[in-house]
Amino acid sequence: MPAQPHDNAPVDLTLASRPDLRHDWSLEEIEALFALPFNDLMFRAQQVHRAHFDPNAVQVSTLLSIKTGACPEDCKYCPQSGHYNTGLGKEKLLEIEKVVNQAKAAKEAGASRFCMGAAWRSPREKDLEVVMEMVSQVKALGLETCMTLGMVDVDQAKRLSEAGLDYYNHNLDTSPGYYGEIITTRTYADRLETLSNVREAGMKVCSGGILGMGEAPRDRAALLQQLVRLEPHPESVPINMLVKVPGTPMENAEDLDPLEFIRAIAVARILMPKSHVRLSAGREQMDESTQAMAFLAGANSIFYGDTLLTTGNPQVERDRALFDKLGLHPEQRETCADDEKTEAALEAAMRERQDDAMFYDATGA
Ligand code: SF4
Repeated sequence: MPAQPHDNAPVDLTLASRPDLRHDWSLEEIEALFALPFNDLMFRAQQVHRAHFDPNAVQVSTLLSIKTGACPEDCKYCPQSGHYNTGLGKEKLLEIEKVVNQAKAAKEAGASRFCMGAAWRSPREKDLEVVMEMVSQVKALGLETCMTLGMVDVDQAKRLSEAGLDYYNHNLDTSPGYYGEIITTRTYADRLETLSNVREAGMKVCSGGILGMGEAPRDRAALLQQLVRLEPHPESVPINMLVKVPGTPMENAEDLDPLEFIRAIAVARILMPKSHVRLSAGREQMDESTQAMAFLAGANSIFYGDTLLTTGNPQVERDRALFDKLGLHPEQRETCADDEKTEAALEAAMRERQDDAMFYDATGA
């Protein structure tokens, strides 16, 4: 039976009247989605989700910090910024061999994508050479590759792509209007330009934002509007809940109502129907019910594993138990010849690996 609009619903709940892959959502339309009765919003998000994905599959990524701390940027939420004293040490770029060994371990644990993050404003030439080699060696293991290295120009993006980089993460963080309250050392336009350069180089885009930084509801809608304007939509959309790290200017930020966070996930799902919406940083602070609602709202990607860096993830066993309770399973890669083996390995790993420090969750540069 087709969906019936709620009597007071300001937005058409029937999906038939509009194409679902759009880039021209107005702020008012997005705010109207946020304002839907909660049940109607969740229902519509589920409709969209089920039209494009296995509703019980969740893509699982692993992430390794290849260079931690002392970042010259001043992102007010980030413990890696050199502007704040969070007790995080400055580390050098990891050696290629160590990264490749970690990637091998991740593959053995069942991961299909390996994400590498460096706390840089942008990569220097000598660093770029090294990370390109990392990419090609990790790729040679048969893993998908993803990096977050700060801003990149077209030439750098093309070289990374040629080295075998599949995804590049660069978050928009918040709305254009609120951005200046959070970061002053680079502009919103800088971020959009990096995303454009990544696309021009032929790579897939991972881009999202952080909620709970004191932004207004309209800022959350405006952030999603910026993401939905990207053509094509980012393949991966991490929606982070702020992790209030002592020592950062955001340590005493007011808590965001978890239901507002769930609404944002649901709206992201409706706006970007074919994207993976990632329940990202802040998951450790969420109870099972909130996480379950996030999956119901259309989140279908997580980082799994333990804390390596600065923001924790729930213990692997807790993830496993939650997957079991909810009847979820790790998403299989369409292009992977040994998907069943990979899924089985991943499920086994989630059972067995409870204390592996190589995995962490980051908000992304
Ligand atoms: S979010 Fe990224 S760019 Fe900003 S301070 Fe942290 S590591 Fe640097």
